[in-house]
Amino acid sequence: MQIDLFYLFLLGLVFILIACFRYISMVGVYYLVVYKFLKNRLKRFKINQEFPEKETILQESKWALLNKVNFGLIGIGTFYLYKEGHLKVYHDLNEYGVWYAILIVPITLVLLDTYFYWIHYFMHHPRYSKKSYHYVHHLFKNVSPWSAFSVHPFEGFLEILSRPLLLLLIPLHPYSIAAFLVITFALNVIGHSGYEFFQSNYPRTPLLNLGSSATFHYLHHRDSRYNFGLFLNVWDRIMGTMHPDYEAFYDKVIENRKNYNKVRKENSENSYYDQKSLNIS
Ligand SMILES: [Zn+2]
Ligand SMILES: [Zn+2]
Repeated sequence: MQIDLFYLFLLGLVFILIACFRYISMVGVYYLVVYKFLKNRLKRFKINQEFPEKETILQESKWALLNKVNFGLIGIGTFYLYKEGHLKVYHDLNEYGVWYAILIVPITLVLLDTYFYWIHYFMHHPRYSKKSYHYVHHLFKNVSPWSAFSVHPFEGFLEILSRPLLLLLIPLHPYSIAAFLVITFALNVIGHSGYEFFQSNYPRTPLLNLGSSATFHYLHHRDSRYNFGLFLNVWDRIMGTMHPDYEAFYDKVIENRKNYNKVRKENSENSYYDQKSLNIS
């Protein structure tokens, strides 16, 4: 029994270390390239021209790393469910075919987005907002990639719980799981990157406009009454929680991107965006 417990402890520790390594290495590379090496070249794409202070980044990282404890706890639980044969993970690609393994990935992303929208919606609901600890994620207004996973461990637990739930409900091959993990991680970092790299007509392009963007989530951190979606804004459209100024603000970001050199001469960096005129606090 003691050996089993020790084994589980080690397993949990391995899951935590992997999650920490993934966070520090992948976000670190993105941060070094975009925020440091190519800082001047990419500055025109920055939504808010102010860069986060070192203390803010340390705070963001502290919450994100603390949250990795959940990877250990939920990782152990998921491993146990797998060993007991409760998960619908399969290993033979031919069992459902290659197309199934590919197409199930976007389906799981839509399901995850639905799960996230509703827990996020209720975390902002006046009745539950104090108990949800979601305020931690909203300590950061001018987001950076380090804030992508900066949540209170309670919120982190709810979010990571979606993974074993998916594995309990949907047959998934390890390749599909790997693709899902890479895509969700990348989209989360892009959403919190603070840079808008998407094209100028993105919010008005049919189908593409159903996807979120860095600007979409930036607005959520500025005004938490709107934009609860993670990768999509379908639920925001259905529930009427799309930020009313999303398209206008996106246009302004693009306009400033195009006229960057000209505008920079006219404005001081801190008043670069006329955010008050767009009703953004
Ligand atoms: Zn966020
Ligand atoms: Zn929120």
